[in-house]
Amino acid sequence: MVKICCIGAGYVGGPTMAVIALKCPTVEVAVVDISVSRINAWNSDQLPIYEPGLDDVVNQCRGKNLFFSTDVEKHVREADIVFVSVNTPTKTQGLGAGKAADLTYWESAARMIADVSKSDKIVVEKSTVPVKTAEAIEKILTHNSKGINFQILSNPEFLAEGTAIQDLFNPDRVLIGGRETPEGTKAIQALKDVYAHWVPVDRIICTNLWSAELSKLAANAFLAQRISSVNAMSALCEATGADVAQVSHAVGKDTRIGPKFLNASVGFGGSCFQKDILNLVYICECNGLPEVANYWKQVIKVNDYQKSRFVNRVVSSMFNTVSGKKIAVLGFAFKKDTGDTRETPAIDVCKGLLGDKARLSIYDPQVSEDQIQRDLSMKKFDWDHPIHLQPMSPTTVKQVSVVWDAYEATKDAHGICILTEWDEFKTLDYKRIYNQMQKPAFVFDGRNVVDAEKLREIGFIVYSIGKPLDP
Ligand code: NAD
Repeated sequence: MVKICCIGAGYVGGPTMAVIALKCPTVEVAVVDISVSRINAWNSDQLPIYEPGLDDVVNQCRGKNLFFSTDVEKHVREADIVFVSVNTPTKTQGLGAGKAADLTYWESAARMIADVSKSDKIVVEKSTVPVKTAEAIEKILTHNSKGINFQILSNPEFLAEGTAIQDLFNPDRVLIGGRETPEGTKAIQALKDVYAHWVPVDRIICTNLWSAELSKLAANAFLAQRISSVNAMSALCEATGADVAQVSHAVGKDTRIGPKFLNASVGFGGSCFQKDILNLVYICECNGLPEVANYWKQVIKVNDYQKSRFVNRVVSSMFNTVSGKKIAVLGFAFKKDTGDTRETPAIDVCKGLLGDKARLSIYDPQVSEDQIQRDLSMKKFDWDHPIHLQPMSPTTVKQVSVVWDAYEATKDAHGICILTEWDEFKTLDYKRIYNQMQKPAFVFDGRNVVDAEKLREIGFIVYSIGKPLDP
């Protein structure tokens, strides 16, 4: 029986390994983490992450061929294939601070693998890492060599939070990069055999290590660039009277462009897009390519601009001040169907409104009060000028209340900001909401989820991203 161990039981490690366990009943999968609370949650009915369909997959395999454990060393020692899916955030200090990937977690995982291993292993980069990381990992793994053969593969993950299980069941492609040596080819084949249990072989792409590592950064950069492109267009639409939905539809009909990822919004978020583009920017700079670096930087600048543009629109529409006014914030997660708030645009939008002394009443179906308070109190890292900005004062934090119902959030509110595209926001009783709000009642739809015309008929003043302004 092939034994797999995955170091890192997070948004990627957990779902990915659960699906491997489900699809490969003859493979034993152990997911290990240094976080005791995370592992306890994986072993309970309250999984540590919200992901549609995940409970079901875990329930089918846990205790059979899927195990969650904090005994990292034991499971690594016993494994034939070790996936490493630890976090690779942006460095906050030292060389490359604000841009480069922080590989501390990866390095310590690699050192541990080298120390505890007693048999040959395939070590798989599942985390998103800078191109050429495998070279560094190889050095660490082979440094203390006790005659053990380590083969490094790059197998970046392309799942999207909110649709992770669907994406893992039916991936557009699985990418495996490895050394072009007989041992490398054998290792690639071993990993291919795992995926071939459910992924059609023509969707398994094999490349050299550097192409695989760089492809993940490139894919995220392209996706984020598409969002910034349509968001940049949304600003122009508002200035000219064009409608971004109509423009996106027309543009997306071109088969060379395609219709996906063309929705205007308050901006992209999540733990990956910004971090991976910054990483790409840093790699370009290190390789003497400042113009290419500047090109990708602009994707983040437009994203930041979109968030501040939204805040400015809210404040200017509400008679140039939101001081003392109650704003209901509907949605805090960075997208629907996840409770993840890492880099969510809601953080910057809320901070912007709080800066003008608004009172916020926040509702998100999957994000806890603790999480929201923590996010709003956190220091923001300015990537262009690597200094820590001031955290919010405790008094400002008191301007925020978190409630568990959209109707509660909107009671007596002067305005509503929709920041996540949760389906339930489409079907709220907006007449009821209008009746309990201060007048004039404003809706600022940062995700274009509501029917603006219907809301205007009720009496709301409505702003939708990239759409002609309220007549
Ligand atoms: P995460 O923070 O949710 O999980 C990482 C886990 O690794 C944490 O639970 C942490 O405790 C654990 N860990 C860190 N060091 C460890 C060690 N030495 N031993 C054992 N456990 C350790 O991160 P994530 O969202 O799962 O992302 C993991 C990687 O996958 C990142 O590189 C990310 O860029 C990439 N990625 C993420 C997504 C996504 O949607 N979240 C998608 C594709 C790729």
